[in-house]
Amino acid sequence: MDIKSIKKLTLTINTVILLLVFGLAGFFHLCGARYLVLFSFPTALVYIFGYYFITHERLDVYVRSVYIWLTLYMSVTTIGLGYKLGFHLYCLSMIPIIFYTEYMAEKLGRRKINAVVVSFLIVLAYLLSTGYAAFSGPVYEIDNSIAGIFWITNSAIVLFFLIIYSGIMLKMVGESEKRLIILAHTDRLTGLFNRHYMMSELTEATKADGDRFVAMADIDFFKRINDQYGHNAGDFVLRTISELMQQMCPDGKVSRWGGEEFLILSSGSAKEGVKLMEKIRTTIESHDFTFEGKKIPVTITAGVSDYVKGTSVDEWINEADENLYFGKRNGRNRVVLKRDTSV
Ligand code: GH3
Ligand code: MG
Ligand code: MG
Repeated sequence: MDIKSIKKLTLTINTVILLLVFGLAGFFHLCGARYLVLFSFPTALVYIFGYYFITHERLDVYVRSVYIWLTLYMSVTTIGLGYKLGFHLYCLSMIPIIFYTEYMAEKLGRRKINAVVVSFLIVLAYLLSTGYAAFSGPVYEIDNSIAGIFWITNSAIVLFFLIIYSGIMLKMVGESEKRLIILAHTDRLTGLFNRHYMMSELTEATKADGDRFVAMADIDFFKRINDQYGHNAGDFVLRTISELMQQMCPDGKVSRWGGEEFLILSSGSAKEGVKLMEKIRTTIESHDFTFEGKKIPVTITAGVSDYVKGTSVDEWINEADENLYFGKRNGRNRVVLKRDTSV
């Protein structure tokens, strides 16, 4: 939700509450509850000022003034009419809102409130007002059937809010967890898996059955590309190569292993690995890397290594790395398997 829609929603909620305040003031008048009618005036003012705070993007001030006043309203109506109407139940829904406000204030870098202390103050107001109604009886007597209607309506609103609120919170936590996992597993520039994540995938792959290979690919003379065309052009080449590799390797895992080095893990034999890397190499060689009107010639060299049972992840990768550097020493722009087998 962006700030504009949050503002719009809050303005709507503010208007609904303001209308409710007027409606309840009318009801208090019918019950002869004079003090409650009088109390409705400052209450309405809080919500009228609320429009100012919402439109001036001071939602934190708005939310705080609303929950301070709601606590007061809840206590005064409970003392006035007793707890049979269920106004005191609203404090149950205020406590999670206070914790949420504290969380949002921290996120937005605004001044925080102590949610635990404020919650205890609400509980205190709850105990004092319901305690007064229990021991001394409410100030005004009210018909039982009217009180029943209020009790059911207020209970339903509070319980419904708690269900919706809990659902939204759980969804938010789940989504933020997913985002964090993606951030922790991927490289920012290319969107490929990062080295850290790939290490765990490689460890898993050594435990699995069936043929599998790794390919270590490195861009040729990349430093020269940076020097000649600029760092942004270098980044563009890295991103484009990453996209091409991902498109051509839909069943495997492609990672950015280091600066301009990529590690691919896939199922299949060493021969299939060489075939795939040859396809990637020729595609990159013939791809049009044009950045800011300049065509950049790009090639890669790659070393392939299949997994030999009983060897470690390091030994597996080293084999691919050695094959890659064999290719670098022998002319670049090639795919190498087992060091001496140039394909
Ligand atoms: P070789 O063919 O032997 O691999 O030569 P090379 O020039 O590709 O290798 P070298 O290791 O000398 O240079 C790699 C360069 O990659 C140096 C570094 O500045 C650049 N590089 C590393 N990460 C990034 C990046 O994220 N963006 C850009 N633009 N350049 C990067
Ligand atoms: Mg290089
Ligand atoms: Mg390198």
